[in-house]
Amino acid sequence: MDGAAIVRIRELKKDSVNFVLENVDLAFANSLRRVVMADIPSIAIDMVEIDANTTVLPDEFIAHRLGMVPLISANCDDAMRYTRDCTCPAGCPICSIWLQLSVTCTDDRTIDVTSDNLEVVPGPFGMSMSMDDAPEELTKRGPYFGHPVNEPGAQPVLLCKIRKGQELKLRCVARKGIAKEHAKWSPCSAVSFEYDPHNKLRHTTHWFEVDERAEWPLGPNAEEEEAPREDQPFDFNAKPNKFYMEVETDGSLGAQEVIMKGLAELQTKLANLILGIKPDLDMIAGGDGQAAGAWGTDGGNWNASEPAAGGAWGAATAQDATSPAWANTAPPFGGGSSRRGAASPGRAAWSSSPTGGGGGGGWGGAQTGWGSPNRETNGWAT
Ligand SMILES: [Zn+2]
Repeated sequence: MDGAAIVRIRELKKDSVNFVLENVDLAFANSLRRVVMADIPSIAIDMVEIDANTTVLPDEFIAHRLGMVPLISANCDDAMRYTRDCTCPAGCPICSIWLQLSVTCTDDRTIDVTSDNLEVVPGPFGMSMSMDDAPEELTKRGPYFGHPVNEPGAQPVLLCKIRKGQELKLRCVARKGIAKEHAKWSPCSAVSFEYDPHNKLRHTTHWFEVDERAEWPLGPNAEEEEAPREDQPFDFNAKPNKFYMEVETDGSLGAQEVIMKGLAELQTKLANLILGIKPDLDMIAGGDGQAAGAWGTDGGNWNASEPAAGGAWGAATAQDATSPAWANTAPPFGGGSSRRGAASPGRAAWSSSPTGGGGGGGWGGAQTGWGSPNRETNGWAT
């Protein structure tokens, strides 16, 4: 693509943004859409302990509804830890937020139990920390961090209705997560994009009865682009270049924060990919065999204990005694021996070469895929 990407914001509200993205390709626009939907962390209720429930709804029903309640998650990237990354044994103020709800109906009429009835409480062990000795995560939180989203004038989220004599009493733990794990962690309620409003590229086939134009009226985005002439020939080389995106959040994060985080996340993903294949490129450029392999060099991720062992993805190219990928010092995949070359269950599953001499089958085999000597010719290394 020539030229830099251009972003023109058409409308920005607290919880929605409408913008035009230019000079990027379709794959990028779609990646941004997907990252924004699935990879931005937010906070949601993840565990519910029900003390009393005499309402008409079963416990599971209520727990599911609680999970879907949007909680204020601004800056949760820095202000909260994933429980799995935290050093605490079972939840602490850095990785968990505790809420409780206790409603009993004594009225003659039915009352609503809503997200307004949820209150944030200190942890079960009196773990509220003072701001002086607080870890840095806690200092980055806003005043209502973790509270249910409560816009002035907007209806709270209805959880259930209870009548006289009924009771709902429960405690919840909210945690940080991403929507790939569960949709309740998605900060977005809607993400859409449109391109080529005149369908010049013919990516869409319009089904119609009599008159295509009358039955497929143009949307507002059509004004942004020139309509095709009546006699204009179809340009089969044309590519979409202008994307009309709209992102709407559920209030847990602001629309602007979602887009900025989405771009940062995309960047991180690409950087990780580049890092993942880079040592491989060095090796082709003349690095010594001792450090062969991307993931498996000393201190590397998959095969740490023997620097001389070839690593995954790119092992057996022309270097001596590199063993196939995934398989050298067994621990990552299902245990067995820790000696390279020893037969272990993990090794057998991934590799056909029992001794690791010269590379056999599997991912790192001399003739296959990622580890092939043909890489120079197939465009991975130049
Ligand atoms: Zn913790």
